[in-house]
Amino acid sequence: MKTCVTCGGKITLVDISKQGTMRRFKSMMLTVPDAIMVPTCTGCGAEYHGATEAEAIDASLGAKFDAILSERGVELTKKLMVHTRLWKIEWLLGLSHGYLSKVRHKKRVPSASLVAVLALLNADPEAFPTLESFWGVNLDEIYSK
Ligand SMILES: [Zn+2]
Repeated sequence: MKTCVTCGGKITLVDISKQGTMRRFKSMMLTVPDAIMVPTCTGCGAEYHGATEAEAIDASLGAKFDAILSERGVELTKKLMVHTRLWKIEWLLGLSHGYLSKVRHKKRVPSASLVAVLALLNADPEAFPTLESFWGVNLDEIYSK
């Protein structure tokens, strides 16, 4: 039986999904959703995972992260449609036409950066004129001609 190098405690296999411990994954703190057995010290809780367990944890958290991004992409694009048209957002963010429609219908998983910008635009719809000014365009004027 192996013992912990930190406290000398006993190391046993623990399903880390049942611990509820929050772990950082990119911009979020998440719990591991899938059952993954990791050698863990019963004394201090230190984990002794190898590459296999680390890959399984990353894959599990990555899938959860993408699902959350997808849900937030749907929610944020719906809310933004109250203030403006999706094509205007696509223009101002340099996205291809129709991209946000794919996000809204869960056909594309938005990046964390895009979700962050969509959240900021929702929090401050007055940022739209700021972006138009920044890029030197007036979309209503362009499309009224
Ligand atoms: Zn320990």
